[in-house]
Amino acid sequence: TPVIMDATVAQIDGYRFVYCLPLADDRMFVEDTYYSDTPGIDHATLGARIDQYAGVHGWVTDAVVGEESGVLPVAMGGDFEAYWRSTGRVAKAGMRAGMFHPTTGYSLPDAVRTATMIAGRRDFGGIALHDATHAMAKATWARRGFYRMLDTMLFKAAEPAERYRVLERFYTLSPRLIGRFYAGQSTMTDKARVLTGKPPVPIGRAVRAILGADLRTGA
Ligand SMILES: Cc1cc2nc3c(=O)[nH]c(=O)nc-3n(C[C@H](O)[C@H](O)[C@H](O)COP(=O)(O)OP(=O)(O)OC[C@H]3O[C@@H](n4cnc5c(N)ncnc54)[C@H](O)[C@@H]3O)c2cc1C
Repeated sequence: TPVIMDATVAQIDGYRFVYCLPLADDRMFVEDTYYSDTPGIDHATLGARIDQYAGVHGWVTDAVVGEESGVLPVAMGGDFEAYWRSTGRVAKAGMRAGMFHPTTGYSLPDAVRTATMIAGRRDFGGIALHDATHAMAKATWARRGFYRMLDTMLFKAAEPAERYRVLERFYTLSPRLIGRFYAGQSTMTDKARVLTGKPPVPIGRAVRAILGADLRTGA
């Protein structure tokens, strides 16, 4: 059975979860994710933890078919226009355009939206494409302040070993709300729902973290 998030693992280096996707009776994809403060990857140590996870579950590894690693951004703020200008007036898509979900760092849904937008166009001139991709990325970034604020709370208000509590509470909410969250399409009611109730992080620290982020970024 697929397991989307096994957060019962040791909470090392921030919120950590393992994702398991069986691809065949004898083939399994195992992914280990850390919501870390730093972008470094120690391949040997992290690989050993995946081996250990498989071992604990009694899975015998005959062969490793493929391996992949990477660091995905979790955005708390930032100057979108300054970033966009830093790579010149050329059309941008994908991560380079800042088109990713601020909390997951995933970019596939935005990439599909961008491809659909471009496929519907007739003008593929350089400047026109720049303007169209810029407008889309800018609007997307502007709509996602809520996710960046949550990221700030997750990283600045919660100690790394306690971050799982924020997610633990989040996953008690309705599956539809969670689906909209990951699609980057949370409604006003969803946002209120995520923020109400007893906060799993110290409230004073959360407010200071958010105010601090706002002052730094002007967001
Ligand atoms: C382990 C892992 C799991 C992930 N899981 C998911 C997931 O489940 N869902 C999801 O949505 N995302 C996921 N991601 C993130 C996703 O893979 C990336 O966000 C996505 O691949 C970014 O695509 P991109 O086209 O923007 O950039 P890239 O894939 O980095 O492509 C950019 C390309 O541009 C090329 N390039 C760079 N500079 C130049 C240049 N000057 N001239 C020409 N070419 C250049 C690079 O070589 C590269 O091929 C995951 C990432 C990792 C590492």
